[in-house]
Amino acid sequence: MLNIGCHLSTTKGYAHMGREASSIGANTFAFFTRNPRGGNAKAIDPDDAAALRAHLAAEGFAPLVAHAPYTLNPCSAKPHAREFARTAMADDLVRMEAVPGSLYNFHPGSHVGQGVEAGVQMIADTLNEVLAPEQTTTVLLETMAGKGSEVGSRFEELAAIIERVELADHLGVCLDTCHVHDAGYDIVNDLDGVLAEFDRIIGIGRLRAIHINDSKNPMGSHKDRHERIGEGTIGWDAFARIVRHPALRDLPFILETPNELDGYADEIRRLRELAES
Ligand code: FE
Ligand code: FE
Ligand code: ZN
Repeated sequence: MLNIGCHLSTTKGYAHMGREASSIGANTFAFFTRNPRGGNAKAIDPDDAAALRAHLAAEGFAPLVAHAPYTLNPCSAKPHAREFARTAMADDLVRMEAVPGSLYNFHPGSHVGQGVEAGVQMIADTLNEVLAPEQTTTVLLETMAGKGSEVGSRFEELAAIIERVELADHLGVCLDTCHVHDAGYDIVNDLDGVLAEFDRIIGIGRLRAIHINDSKNPMGSHKDRHERIGEGTIGWDAFARIVRHPALRDLPFILETPNELDGYADEIRRLRELAES
């Protein structure tokens, strides 16, 4: 069975997210670990977390895919911004142990003119400071569209970061279909070729989650504007190949499409049908 869900709001608590996911046919989901604007994260209620864990176990959920605030920039030119990225990620990784064995996805960052090499090094430095041997969470670098000075729109950049991290067993990659397409990887006409390239440069074993989004823009546009599944430039036929691909079909798939819950329920149902047909 396809493991699929969408991004959910944490405002009604952890257990509520589990029930909401089940109500739309999902068996995984994503959520922000804290307010994207920063500041201190709300304390996790242990009973609420326990209720979510019980729900996930009872319903046989796939690993959850938490998302770090997208405003974190581990390769900012400003030391206080890098420091915020470090303290927020370290704190998030402690909090993530409320749901052991989950995935924690983050945007590698924007080098803001310092250059890719400097960016790669700062991102690796941050990971070397925040990863702990005993953590059960796998931290995922997200493939980026290459908007502005984003690091991580080329597989080589993600590989270079991973190579410089000591506790790399705790690292993986989350492939965002909109982002790789906008970055110039032809997942529409040559999915096998793109995955072979991923394998050669990063290693397919690092691929641990998929953000499944259509794109409003042409391949290589470096835009990063998500579209509903089938309504963009990637299209249903390509998504059918994606959800059926032997290297992908067992991973958690997370929808980040412009939808409300009923729209997500619909996409989940249709993608499950495609995966099984
Ligand atoms: Fe993201
Ligand atoms: Fe994404
Ligand atoms: Zn995006």
